[in-house]
Amino acid sequence: MSAGEEGEYYVARQLRRLNDSKFFVINDLLFRKRNGFTNQIDHLVVSPYGVFVIETKNIYGYIHGADKSKLWRSYWRDGRDLAFDNPVLQNEAHIMALEERLGVGRQIPYYSIIAFSPTADLQVNVSNADVIYWTQIRQLVRAYKEPVMSIEEARSLYEEIIALNITDPEVRSTHGQYANARKVEFKRRTDNALDNGKCPKCGGNLVRRTGTYGAFYGCSNYPNCKYTHPAY
Ligand SMILES: [Zn+2]
Repeated sequence: MSAGEEGEYYVARQLRRLNDSKFFVINDLLFRKRNGFTNQIDHLVVSPYGVFVIETKNIYGYIHGADKSKLWRSYWRDGRDLAFDNPVLQNEAHIMALEERLGVGRQIPYYSIIAFSPTADLQVNVSNADVIYWTQIRQLVRAYKEPVMSIEEARSLYEEIIALNITDPEVRSTHGQYANARKVEFKRRTDNALDNGKCPKCGGNLVRRTGTYGAFYGCSNYPNCKYTHPAY
């Protein structure tokens, strides 16, 4: 099992323990966006309280991130660190794509949840999503107590979403390969650039600087390029 699969497996197991007469769970939803591209959502819970859209992250280290920053970063104890796509923005894009398929203006509340592995130490500054640990998922979903639709309406919305799910194994495997290749390529390019002392964004030289929060590497093309990387 890959790290990502492990997370999805764990969260799916937690969600199975919700009351299934009113919480309708969909794991690994793959659907077509209006523009024809495919989009994958780790988990959805459709309920009378709204639709919970859950992105799982299996990551080590201190996690730093904010609502709008393009990248988040995890800092490991051995001094290395890793940038990854901001999951709050990713999940917002998932929700928007789903809403476009279901019809905008239907007054369905969507709740964005980013669920991290317990190996992460969350130090994020976020208000556009609930950023929690896997173990807190049911507690969080159950904390929403204000119904916005009937159980029957929730069930039919669930069926509407299930009908969007792509089951064709060929389309599914193409989506997976594309997503993985993109991640691997991104990490490889960043690591290579940093090893060579080059800015991974523009190829400029990285220059050691000292700022308010200590030493860091900045791009020699600043202010045109604002890339920075922590120094140790
Ligand atoms: Zn640069």
